[in-house]
This record gives sequence, structure tokens and C-alpha cells, in this order.
Amino acid sequence: MSFSVDLTDAERARILAKTARFAPPAPVLADGRRDLVGLTRAELAAELSAVGEAPFRAKQVWHWIYHQGVTDFSRMSTIAKPTQQKLAERFVIGRPDAETVQTSEDGTRKFLFRFRDGQEAETVYIPDPEEDRGSVCISSQIGCTLSCRFCHTGTQALVRNLGPAEIVGQFMAARDSYGEWPSPKGETPRLLSTIVLMGMGEPLYNYENVATAMKIAMDHEGIALSRRRITLSTSGVVPMMDRAGAELGVNLAVSLHAVRDELRDELVPLNRKYPIGELLAACRRYPAASNARRVTFEYVMLKGLNDSEADARELVRLIAGMPAKVNLIPFNPWPGSPYATSSARAIERFAKIVMDAGFSSPVRTPRGRDILAACGQLRTESRRARAVAG
Ligand code: SAH
Ligand code: SF4
Repeated sequence: MSFSVDLTDAERARILAKTARFAPPAPVLADGRRDLVGLTRAELAAELSAVGEAPFRAKQVWHWIYHQGVTDFSRMSTIAKPTQQKLAERFVIGRPDAETVQTSEDGTRKFLFRFRDGQEAETVYIPDPEEDRGSVCISSQIGCTLSCRFCHTGTQALVRNLGPAEIVGQFMAARDSYGEWPSPKGETPRLLSTIVLMGMGEPLYNYENVATAMKIAMDHEGIALSRRRITLSTSGVVPMMDRAGAELGVNLAVSLHAVRDELRDELVPLNRKYPIGELLAACRRYPAASNARRVTFEYVMLKGLNDSEADARELVRLIAGMPAKVNLIPFNPWPGSPYATSSARAIERFAKIVMDAGFSSPVRTPRGRDILAACGQLRTESRRARAVAG
């Protein structure tokens, strides 16, 4: 059987149009004030110019929001009081509300964030056990359109996409929780040092909002995270991978999980649309792929399903010649999940075959399992409003 994936701009436009049906609500409060978080620099300048402010004001406000982390105009000490007041009458600097915050015995912290319309998503901070740094695992959607069999989020229908303010806001609110403002500059160590788009949802099915949020996080005059410190994980939305590579250039992680189409069709149903061959071709094309910037393949270890030595050898054959790394993720169970985790021996055997072929193959230690914060365990009770569902 030969497949050919539609990689035209028309197909990308079709994907984006579909995601627009799940658009987030406008970032405006009931009293009419607009949230300034999540705007691009150009949009921020336009908002401020509409209230009579010169372009330099946008630069100042950007610095206060994303470098200093303030949420109150009265703390913007480089701006005169009357202007602060004028801004406060028209705008807010929002954050998602932390509905609950749970900290695991291993230090992992899970936030349940509630957004302005009452919908909720989870974010996880995973501190490095040895050094003062850590990853913030961010959600891109509430629920997911895809339904990977091993993933808890996949059991929740897509409620809606998250907007740029809600995506970058998860990171900013996590920073609030650790008091890490102003944004550390250059190589100064950071507690919240990387962003992984590995929370709820498929980031490439909410591409534009994710892209805007990541551009904000990368902006040098604000949060200033290097693109090397951001990893986008996809289940394999092939047409959007090229665009993400060209436009964002962040690290790419691909949820492979199986080396044969028959099994991957079952585990990651998106494979029926974008099969393994096409997915790997997109990985080879990924612009950031070089020896220094390897594509990471995520491979969840499912007992007796995808963890044999033959699977490991086939994996090595598939990725031969690619600057790649394989992240082995012991399956994290969740209430009612249909699979079991591979034995430590099977994982070790698999990792050795991959490593002997020259690929780094770390086994991801499960973090925060006690609070259901590990990979694939996130899910919220948010549901689509009736009006949208109809
Ligand atoms: N939708 C994106 C990103 C979110 S999932 C994606 O699928 O890549 C982040 C990672 O966790 C993916 O590799 C996903 O396959 C993996 N994962 C999902 N459920 C899991 C589980 N129960 N145990 C371990 N990893 C899981
Ligand atoms: Fe969605 Fe990723 Fe979970 Fe699959 S693994 S259901 S794409 S969040």
C-alpha cells in the first residue's frame, strides 16, 4: 500500500480552519477590559496606540509583563501614574487561576488551571532532581481530538483550543508559584528552565495559538527562553511539522510508540492518516534536525505489545542515519487504562539494542505518579458547552 500525504498549503489551511471551530473565547473581561497577555508585539502596539499611546509604550509594557512579571499596572514604575491608571481602566494582565496545586513526594507540582470561561487544563512542573532547573509541561488544548489508547487525555473529547494567553499564561503562573521573576537573563540558571508542550492536547492541531505563545516565550526582551529550551511533542500531524520547523525551530519530539503501521494504527489512530513512513520522512526534513538538535522519538513501553527485541531492531532500522534520540517512557497507568507497563528487564533489553546502534535511549523516570501528573495521566472534568457540542 502506498500513501501520499497532502503537504500543500491548501491542506494546512484546511487543518487550521478545522481547529478554528474550537477557538478560545475572546480574552476580554465582562467589564470590557482586555487581557494584554498573549498579544504579539504588533498587536500590543496596536491596542496601546488605539488609546493614544506612542510605540515606545508597548516596549515598556512588554518588559513589565514578560520580563518583570507584574500583573498590576501600578507597579510599572517607569510609567507615570495617570497613564498607569488609564491602562488599568482598559486592560488587565491576566493569569489563569490555580484551582488546585498538588506537590508530589518527588517534588513534581501539578496545577489545575481554570480559565475565564470556567474550563480547566493541567500543567506540571518537573524539577530536576540534581540541579536547580526543571521543565514546565504545558497543555495546548482542553481534551484532545485524537484518542491514543494509552493516554488519559485521549479519553476526554476536545473541549476547545487554548489561546495564546492561556498557553504562555500556564508558564507565567507556574513562575509566579516559584517567585521566579524577573526573567533570569542569558545563562543565569533558572528553576523553570524549559517548556515541553507535552501536556493535554495535540499542539499541532492548535498551531497558531501555540506558535504565538512560543514566540512570546522566546522574545529576547521578555521571558527570553531559547528555542533550544522548548520542545514540541506531536503525535505526528505531518503537514504541520514542516511549518513548525520553519517558523519556530523549536526541538521536536515525535510520539512514535510502534514500529509497524498495523500496531500504530491501533495505538495512535492518527497513523491511519499519516503513517510511519510519511512521519519519518517529515522528521528527516525537520529543519532543526542536525546532530546538535536531534529529533526525539517518544516510545511508551507497553507490556507484550511493542517491547520485544524485534521491535527494538526495527526501530533502529527505521531511524538509521537520522540525528535522533529515543525516549523510552514506561507506560503510566490511569484509572481504567487498558495496558500494563513493560517489565524493567524488557525495557533494559530494548534500551540496550537502541543504544548499541548509536542512539541515546534514556528511560524516562516516571514523575509525580502519586498525583496523576506523569506523562499521559492528565485529564480534566471540563466538558464542551451544549451550544458548542450541538
Ligand atoms: N499530543 C502530543 C503531546 C502530549 S502527550 C503527543 O501525543 O505527542 C506527551 C507524551 O506522553 C506523548 O509521547 C504521549 O504519547 C505520552 N503518553 C500518553 N499517555 C501516556 C501514558 N499513559 N504513559 C506514558 N506516556 C504516555
Ligand atoms: Fe492526544 Fe497526545 Fe494523548 Fe494522543 S497522546 S490522545 S495526541 S494528548
